[in-house]
Amino acid sequence: MTIELMQLEEVQHLDMKVQALMKTRANLLAQTDQAQQRVETQAKALDARKTELRSVTVERMEKESEYNAEGEKIRRWEHRLLEIKTNREYQALLREIDMSKRANEHLETDVLELMGRLEGLERDVHVAEELLRKLETERDAARKTAEEHVSTLEDQARSLDEKRADLVSKIPEPLLRRYETIRDRRGGIALVATVDGRCHGCNIQLPPQLFVRLQVRDTVESCPACNRILFFRPQDAATPQQQIET
Ligand SMILES: [Zn+2]
Repeated sequence: MTIELMQLEEVQHLDMKVQALMKTRANLLAQTDQAQQRVETQAKALDARKTELRSVTVERMEKESEYNAEGEKIRRWEHRLLEIKTNREYQALLREIDMSKRANEHLETDVLELMGRLEGLERDVHVAEELLRKLETERDAARKTAEEHVSTLEDQARSLDEKRADLVSKIPEPLLRRYETIRDRRGGIALVATVDGRCHGCNIQLPPQLFVRLQVRDTVESCPACNRILFFRPQDAATPQQQIET
């Protein structure tokens, strides 16, 4: 393994650390976003409940005043009954009063039904308010966690980037560009060891001549299948590493 590849391996090590830090950071921010979205969804649901509560309240007040007005009319008519002289008129007014009373019974039923709906809606609003408060608390906690950790993660990443800048200044430009291009295409792993004559990145058996060239350590070789930069470390053959996940 050439000194350049050893330095490149160190760069890759730093890049993976930074990648992990940034993933943690992105997760924290995503959790905050999701918590905020849950708050907004619940706030909308609560608003809808409150709007319904207001409109049913208005409906109940209208029905109630209709019911009261009708009751007042019935009382006036009943009073007038006492002043009526002819039986025909008396019977006619009595019929009117009966009809009004029946109409008012319907209004009373409507009012009672609306009151029942209002009770249900008030309960719903209360439950929705409680849930909103709970979600807001969760959102605030997620924000606090993110605030506490994000800047630390960014500081750590910056310090790793500084180390990286030092290292890459020693690596030949073409090799570094090659590494970065492969890294972008291969999910962060561009430099891999050989294990038992296989590429540790994609696990294919390497052509014997290529493997020989690697062991001679004088050239930078790529895997013919996944294109990752290969290096040979004598102990790799004896102690196979864990398979790379990506
Ligand atoms: Zn490969």
